[in-house]
Amino acid sequence: MYVVLAGHSLFQIDLMDLKFLGQVRGWKCGVGRHVYNFLLDGESVQLSDSVCRAGADHQVLDFQSTSVKFEEQPIDCPRENCFCGFDLGIPKGRTKSDLVELKDRFNRLSPERSSELPFYTGGTEVTAYGLDGFLREQMIHVEWYLGKRCNFDCSYCPPSIHDKVSPFPSRERLANAYSFLLRTILESNDLSGKVLDFIFHGGEPTLVPGFLDLLNKIRSDARFVSQVQTLTNFSRNVEYLYELNQASDLTYSVHLEYMSEDFLKKLANFLDSRDATSRNFAVKVMYLKEHRVWVSRIFEVLKQHPGIHFSVNPLHNKKDKLLYQYDEEDRAFFKLSGVT
Ligand code: SF4
Ligand code: SF4
Repeated sequence: MYVVLAGHSLFQIDLMDLKFLGQVRGWKCGVGRHVYNFLLDGESVQLSDSVCRAGADHQVLDFQSTSVKFEEQPIDCPRENCFCGFDLGIPKGRTKSDLVELKDRFNRLSPERSSELPFYTGGTEVTAYGLDGFLREQMIHVEWYLGKRCNFDCSYCPPSIHDKVSPFPSRERLANAYSFLLRTILESNDLSGKVLDFIFHGGEPTLVPGFLDLLNKIRSDARFVSQVQTLTNFSRNVEYLYELNQASDLTYSVHLEYMSEDFLKKLANFLDSRDATSRNFAVKVMYLKEHRVWVSRIFEVLKQHPGIHFSVNPLHNKKDKLLYQYDEEDRAFFKLSGVT
């Protein structure tokens, strides 16, 4: 749950609405305590304390010997826009005292009371916000980028994120990277009572050989409680997707330029194949005005299966990283988020 402080009162807010409050340049941002952004890109490896990489940003030269520690003091946000889901979750405030007030007020609430917070509807200026698990220091998030290789070429996706030629990491490299990451996290954090929350993405992570083995290794690691989510463009077959959904929550990122009758059929078949042993499944539509006719078709399929989380997401221009200009008609689509 995302929590905002406005007019010295707490509210909850949907992620879609929060994305429109991302212009926080100069705010105090609590990077360094919540996020490990692990980028495995060919031979290069980076470990940062945020997806925006504005705080600590280390190049990892050697999985065996390097150890990375993050500075825990809040930084002044230098970015024009904060927009990735978990960066938006990092507690931040217009001033340091706004940030402290947000944490103090929220941590004085019981979990029951906090789930009853009213939704923010505007009117009062937002002075701080963050994700509940971070505010209560109950969660550490790992954002693991498995490389650029992708079989799609979405118009809004920059070449720094995807291409069709980069090599996949080998199984051995994945295993070494995992050992390094866990050693680094455990050196700085006591994970008892906390959840280690992983999101895998790329490129397209499901193309990486050995990806399922890595997920199963995380799942069976007794040193911590894990949550694992994979973002996928859904291009693998239904059998693979079923197996993946046994090891990981799955979010189908719908790239509307690639939507087709075959994809819709595959979505329906996958939903039919899921059973009581399947983990969570969510659908995240990347909103492109010119292809929005598909949105209702996708919802028709999802509606046959109760309990599926879905959302329609605004996009950022890959050049200036600012949100595209959306009108009221577009914004009505972003309100479609919910559960079937
Ligand atoms: S972009 Fe977001 S995560 Fe990065 S420093 Fe700014 S507020 Fe923090
Ligand atoms: S599927 Fe994802 S990684 Fe691949 S091009 Fe599209 S947005 Fe980029």
